[in-house]
Amino acid sequence: MKLLLHACCADCALKFLESARENYFEVTIFYYNPNIHPRAEYSTRLKAMQKVASESGIKIIIPNWKPREYFEKVGDDTQKPNRCIKCWNLRLGATGKYAAEKGFDTFSSTLVTSEYQDQEKIEKIAENIAKKYKVKFWKPKEICCDLKTSGFYKQFFCGCVYSMKERYEEKYGK
Ligand code: SF4
Repeated sequence: MKLLLHACCADCALKFLESARENYFEVTIFYYNPNIHPRAEYSTRLKAMQKVASESGIKIIIPNWKPREYFEKVGDDTQKPNRCIKCWNLRLGATGKYAAEKGFDTFSSTLVTSEYQDQEKIEKIAENIAKKYKVKFWKPKEICCDLKTSGFYKQFFCGCVYSMKERYEEKYGK
């Protein structure tokens, strides 16, 4: 079965691939992340992702980075959880659509491996997208969480400018 995997960080991609190992998917990575800022951060994460793809023998699709797509989706609603719900919808929606158009049976996302994200909401969004585009959404039954020190670039914040500001404020105060 062909699975299109939305992925935004190398560590999570490794966790996902390990968790999916016994399901015999033919995985292609879809690095669609207009939420990630600034460009240097986007590029550093991409470089790590390309290394994962190359070492795992996996194809990677890299749509053009268009941060405007993220800002237009979020609009003025920049507080959590609303901005995150829109962000997940944007990225999962693009993945489901691409999967349907390009003949993948299934799609998924490394977002399902993250303990920092709202798994219940992400699954609900993904299931709605699956229905809309008539592709399956798949989530590993168990996530391998012991790969955290895999040596790949590990980001300091979730991805968007708002999350960067929040992390700095948590660490250094307002
Ligand atoms: S915190 Fe993360 S999930 Fe939420 S909007 Fe920012 S990048 Fe997206």
